[in-house]
Amino acid sequence: MQGVLPPEIISIMSTVWTEPFWRAASEHRLVLPRCRACSEFRFPPTPFCPSCSSQEIDWVEHAGSGTIYSYTVIRHAVIPDVAAALPLIAAVVELPGTNGCRIIGNIVDVDPADVAIGQAVTLDWYDVRAGESVPIFRLA
Ligand SMILES: [Zn+2]
Repeated sequence: MQGVLPPEIISIMSTVWTEPFWRAASEHRLVLPRCRACSEFRFPPTPFCPSCSSQEIDWVEHAGSGTIYSYTVIRHAVIPDVAAALPLIAAVVELPGTNGCRIIGNIVDVDPADVAIGQAVTLDWYDVRAGESVPIFRLA
């Protein structure tokens, strides 16, 4: 797979607010926190709903297909360990049906010249190590 960081420099640190996300990710499922009180999604997860201040959350599964809201192409290895993985395309993907939730992930296996804002992408998973996966995206 071209366009992902080497596993040895990826460290997933979850908190009580993000643990359900990472647990689902390890099963290759994308779940997003939705306020149980007012039904607004909030991502990344936060202790309080920005709309109504509730702390109640339902974790809702999402297919992960979306559109590129923004992206950057990383061509220089600030960290020497990433040199072999370049270029990296780090994208912000907007997820439909979520009142504007956006998720960050690399776009993989594509020439950076073929990537543009507004393009449709589909979710895939990068298995960093046993039990730890991170979202990545492919052009649809
Ligand atoms: Zn709310």
